[in-house]
Order: sequence, then structure tokens, then C-alpha cells
Amino acid sequence: MTKKSGNTPVKIPGKDEVIEIAGAGPSGLTAAITLAQAGRKVLVHELHKEVGYRFGRDLQGLENWTTEQNVLDAFTDLGITTDFEKLACRRGILFDSKDRVYEINDKEPLFYLVERGPGPHSLDSALLTQALDLGVEVRFNSRVKHLEGAGILATGPKAADAIAVGYHFDTDMENGFWAICDNKLAPQGYAYLLVMNGRGTIKTCMFTNFKQEKIYVARTVAAFERLVDLRMENQQPHGGVGNFRIPKWAMSGNHPVVGEQAGFQDTLWGFGMRYAIRSGALAANSMLEGTDYDELRRNQIDVSMKTAIVNRGLYSLLGNPGYRAFMRMLANSKNIRAALRKQYQPNWFKLLFAPLALLYFKGRRKDKNCHHVNCTCVWCRCGGAI
Ligand SMILES: Cc1cc2nc3c(=O)[nH]c(=O)nc-3n(C[C@H](O)[C@H](O)[C@H](O)COP(=O)(O)OP(=O)(O)OC[C@H]3O[C@@H](n4cnc5c(N)ncnc54)[C@H](O)[C@@H]3O)c2cc1C
Repeated sequence: MTKKSGNTPVKIPGKDEVIEIAGAGPSGLTAAITLAQAGRKVLVHELHKEVGYRFGRDLQGLENWTTEQNVLDAFTDLGITTDFEKLACRRGILFDSKDRVYEINDKEPLFYLVERGPGPHSLDSALLTQALDLGVEVRFNSRVKHLEGAGILATGPKAADAIAVGYHFDTDMENGFWAICDNKLAPQGYAYLLVMNGRGTIKTCMFTNFKQEKIYVARTVAAFERLVDLRMENQQPHGGVGNFRIPKWAMSGNHPVVGEQAGFQDTLWGFGMRYAIRSGALAANSMLEGTDYDELRRNQIDVSMKTAIVNRGLYSLLGNPGYRAFMRMLANSKNIRAALRKQYQPNWFKLLFAPLALLYFKGRRKDKNCHHVNCTCVWCRCGGAI
């Protein structure tokens, strides 16, 4: 196995070569759609029997603040379908640790609620349908261990830097979203309740103390029962992990690594779908155009990741008084989208603080990326030269 000192080039597929993608999450399916739209033959391998297996029927927020352009327009520009059920969320209620209420209200949607998982109206099913319509072959129950030819690795998180735990349920509650920022409910994170058209998700999103998750879930449920008259029927427990990091190399051999497998995700609050879709499209385009994926993602993804890591460092350090100040700032803001977007933009303070925050926020993933030229592992364990 030979080592390469710089970036490993993306393997450019021959015109008739089948490009293989490991993982049918948003990142893998976006890459597949982008390649198929350019007339390439694509085969997606999915470990599970259906898309979105790890999410069940989770409700998630497709954030609409990090870019001025609306997220749905951004999807359209990338050629990605928006034909999934969605609820535009312009207003919601936040609570602090003393039950004080902060109403937030914006003219534009702050995010869109979407369903994840295999359901007929979910984001994952819409992406799958678009891929299949374009002639992509999707092979379920297919675990990829090695990729020999041209391909993209999109197999999701490999470690837990944060967890979100709680329930999915049916409800007669009105549509909406509510969140509580209180370390007693969600250490260094936030507890949230989302309702869309008779379905709900309640979670504590924790960045530490994972072993105590049951206690935090119970406190979260009790708090929402007290504050907003939470009503759950047919509740099913659900939880999942998030993995954040800025990888040294987002390549494994000649294969671009995308989405959460690479570690791309909003380190502040765990919004990963847009990163997954952006990086999937970026990798596919780099393959089509023969450009350097690692260079592209350094320029287009790492800046916002770095800012989010600084935000995370500050958020974790400030605790309940800091969360309160943040919520007050949002509630008093005339343009909440713009106020949030500002948080994600680099400034001299954040750039200065970044090395410290990177030291403070150490991802839990200990394995090393491989930049061996001829490595074929889907998740490489043989790299050691970084
Ligand atoms: C509980 C929870 C709540 C969340 N809420 C939000 C939210 O509100 N907003 C937001 O933006 N983000 C949210 N996220 C994060 C977001 O869901 C992820 O960042 C996003 O799904 C990552 O997409 P991906 O394609 O990289 O990985 P995934 O969606 O994990 O897809 C990877 C796929 O690869 C498959 N796979 C794994 N190994 C193999 C293999 N060897 N061979 C073949 N296939 C394989 C998996 O089965 C899976 O289908 C949340 C995450 C969790 C866990």
C-alpha cells in the first residue's frame, strides 16, 4: 500500500463505469441523483432493508437560516427534489431553566419540519424515488466492506459526540415546535418537542452524560407535560447519535467521504441534513468535473464547521445563564433568521477562538482517516499516517 503526501485524487470513472455508493442516506442519495442526472450509471448499496432505517419516523428540522437563500430553493438549484411532506415553522416557543417563555417569530420559515425514515412522505423516500426515477439501482440489505472502483462513501456516523433520545408518538396537539434550554434536561444541549399533522417527536439532545439518558428523557417529558400540556399516544422510544468533526482528509483511498461519515454536521445543534446534501452533491460534482473534493470541501464546508465548533465551545461553557441570554437575543430580534445566520458566520473573534475550541471540543472518534492511494476499505482502519 503506497502513501501519498498530499490530497488523494478522486477516482474519475469511465463513461460506462458503474459508480458505487455505500449508504442510502441523504448524502449518498444526493450523490447518486447528481451523478445519474449527468447520465452516469449508479449503484447504491444500503445496509438495511429500507431507507432511513435508523430514524423510524423521526421528525427533524431542515434549517433555513445558514443561507440567505431558502433551503428549498437551494435544493432545487442542486437538482434535489423537495417533493416531501414539510411544515414551514416561522414561530415557536423556547423556555429557559426557570420556565421563562421566549416567543420567536419570523416572517420567513426558520426551518421546515420533515419526516425521516421509510414512510411514504418522508425526505428519505422522496430522495429514493427521485434516484430510482433517474435509473439508479438501489440494492437493499447490502453491506459494503470494500469499494474497488469509482465510488463514494456515505455510511453515516461512526461515533457518538451527541445523542438525541426520547419518543415518537401520535398526538392531537397543534402543529408547532417548542424547546427548552436547561442543563438539567439536556446537558450542554436542548430538549425539543415537534408536532406535524398528528405526529410528534420529543427528545433530549445531550452532548455529555450519555449514561444518564433515561433520567434526562423522563425530565424532558415531565417538563413538556407541565409547560405545554404534552399529549402522547402510541409512543415508541427512539434515539440516535451524531458525529461531528472536521476531518483531516475527507477521502478514503480514492473515494470521497460525505455526510456524517466524514463528520460533517452542525456541531452547535446537530443539524446535519443540509451538510449531508451539500457534501453529497460536492463529491458527485468533483467526480464529474475531475476537481479536488478535499480542496472543495475545505473551502465550502470547513469554514461553517469551524464557526459551529466555536459556537459549541461557547454554548457548553456558558451554561444556563448563557442559554438564557441567547434566547432573549433571539426573542428580541426583528429578523431571527439573520440573527441566527450571523452566529454561523466567521468573525475575528471566532477565528481567534477556533484553535482553543477545537482543543476543547474533541470528537470521540479515535480512528484515523486513510489517505493510502489504493485503500479500498469503506471505513478504513488501516490508515495511521496522519
Ligand atoms: C435523533 C436525531 C435527530 C436529528 N435531528 C436533525 C434535525 O432536526 N435536523 C438536521 O438537519 N439533522 C438532524 N439530525 C442529523 C441528520 O439526521 C444526519 O446528519 C443525516 O441523516 C446524515 O445523513 P448521511 O447521509 O450522512 O447519513 P445517514 O442518514 O446515517 O445515512 C447513512 C446510510 O448508510 C447506511 N450504511 C451504513 N453502513 C453501511 C455499509 N457498510 N454499507 C451500505 N450502507 C451502509 C445506513 O444504513 C444509512 O442508511 C438528527 C440525527 C439524529 C440521530
